[in-house]
Amino acid sequence: MPLNRDDILRALETVKLPDGKSLPASGRLTDVVINDGKVIFAITVDPSEVNALEGVRSSAEQIVKRVPGVTGALVGLTADKAAGSSPAPGPTPMRSGPKNPPAATSKLAGIPGVKHIIAVASGKGGVGKSTTSCNLALGLAALGLKIGILDADIYGPSQPKLFGLRGKPRVTPERKMEPLERYGVKVMSIGFLVDEETAMIWRGPMVMSALTQMLREVAWGDLDVLVVDMPPGTGDAQLTMAQQTPLAGAVIVSTPQDLALLDARRGVAMFRKVNVPVLGVIENMANFSCPNCGHVSPIFGHGGARAEAEKTGVPFLGEIPLHMEIRETSDEGRPVVATAPDGPHSQAYLAIARKVWATLESGVASKPAPKIVIE
Ligand code: ADP
Repeated sequence: MPLNRDDILRALETVKLPDGKSLPASGRLTDVVINDGKVIFAITVDPSEVNALEGVRSSAEQIVKRVPGVTGALVGLTADKAAGSSPAPGPTPMRSGPKNPPAATSKLAGIPGVKHIIAVASGKGGVGKSTTSCNLALGLAALGLKIGILDADIYGPSQPKLFGLRGKPRVTPERKMEPLERYGVKVMSIGFLVDEETAMIWRGPMVMSALTQMLREVAWGDLDVLVVDMPPGTGDAQLTMAQQTPLAGAVIVSTPQDLALLDARRGVAMFRKVNVPVLGVIENMANFSCPNCGHVSPIFGHGGARAEAEKTGVPFLGEIPLHMEIRETSDEGRPVVATAPDGPHSQAYLAIARKVWATLESGVASKPAPKIVIE
């Protein structure tokens, strides 16, 4: 008999909430997704209950793992969606998110051993956010720092390819997942855990639970910086993530034309809304540098980022040219900062990494950000 939802619900009846109700009777379960023996669901909580219900989450996961036919279980806590309703086809509106963000942000527990967590975000997809996260992480590692990268871009995990990594993380005796490691950086991605099709099921509430689990149930060890490659855009799912991750700051990646379209400004506004300091803007694909003759052309109209950053009071972290070497090395899993550290592109990423680290260490990132208004 193939595994079905009722088997899982029956097993979960033994899991009790603090008020004595069983988990299925509490109305807090999201839909249970079963895919090839892997069971994925979340428990709906109010953000203030996250710590209190962590024990319930982990016993639910252990119990489901013991059900015959289950090959893996991923259970998360979510504040993203009303209990008992069926999964939405995309990110769902939040119940309590944007109304009370500052409290949620400031109360989040950090990750033991991890000094700073920073998000790398963009107003929309395709601007080079993942490529920049990867090379920024490598740039920080080149400064002699202990670095991890968490690929939270659940809709399109790219870090396994960028780092040229495959395989499944090992599980430690403490039941934490070991990140994979390459070029001196610890890497964790949903891409190591599920295939691409399954990743697409992880919509709305699942996105948050997956992120929480990858943040907290991975044996990161001691890190100076954990770089989080966020999903692109500024929708509710991204806002919830920004709100529920103990972030020291955020870096916004933008192309020159993206700035003109206000997308990057929306990214800046999103982090400010949840009181996460914006460490600065990186202008990616700033100008085209010809691989044959070296001639540099500002094909997208260059310089907008610096001006825009100044206008909104956000530091400008630097620019990265549009260059074949960056694309090719990314596609081959040989990122430029790791494989051509002395070249001009690596130097550009390194200069940005130095600025990011200096800001984190100066404590500027912990000061509350000023409010901005978007016209
Ligand atoms: P995002 O994460 O914003 O969706 P990616 O990092 O996946 O974007 O980049 C999209 C594409 O652009 C990839 O093929 C990547 O190799 C390429 N790319 C990113 N930055 C650069 C750059 N500076 N020069 C050349 N190609 C780039």
